[in-house]
Amino acid sequence: MALFQDQKGKNIINYQKMINEKKDTIRKYYDEIGHLYYGQYKDMNIDVTKDINARCESISNIYKDIEELNIKILREKGLKKCAICSTENQLANAFCFKCGARFADDDAIPADVIAPPNACATPPSEKPAVPAEPAPEAPAAVEPAAAGPEAKSEDEI
Ligand SMILES: [Zn+2]
Repeated sequence: MALFQDQKGKNIINYQKMINEKKDTIRKYYDEIGHLYYGQYKDMNIDVTKDINARCESISNIYKDIEELNIKILREKGLKKCAICSTENQLANAFCFKCGARFADDDAIPADVIAPPNACATPPSEKPAVPAEPAPEAPAAVEPAAAGPEAKSEDEI
C-alpha cells in the first residue's frame, strides 16, 4: 500500500514538473511576443502578426496540455473535477455532489486528445511516416542463417 502511494506521489511530482516546464515555455513565448510587438512599435514597416499569432496558438495548446496534466494529477489523487462548477469529486461519482451535473461517461483520458497545432507561421513538424504496404516481392523464408545486419525498422523519432 505504501509502495503504491509512493508511486502515485512520484507520478504527481512528475506531472507537476511537466506543468512547470510548460509554464516556463509559456513565459518564454510571452516574452517573445513582447519583443516582437515592441519591434513593430519601433518600426511600423515590420509586420509581426503572423509570428505573434503562431506563439499565441502555441500558448493555447500548452494551456490545454497543462489542463490535461492537472486532470491526471487529480486522478492520481482519486479525484476528478466537475466541468460545470469545478468542484473536485471522487472518481467514482456519477454526479457532481455540489451542483448535480452528470459526469461524462468517458472515464479514460484519450491519449491523443491533443489537437494538432494550427500555427500558420511554424513549419510543420515531421510526422512519422506511415509504414507502407509490404512489398509484394517479399522474400520467402529460405535463408534462416542470413539475418539482416541492421534492419531499419525505426520509423518513429
Ligand atoms: Zn459541479
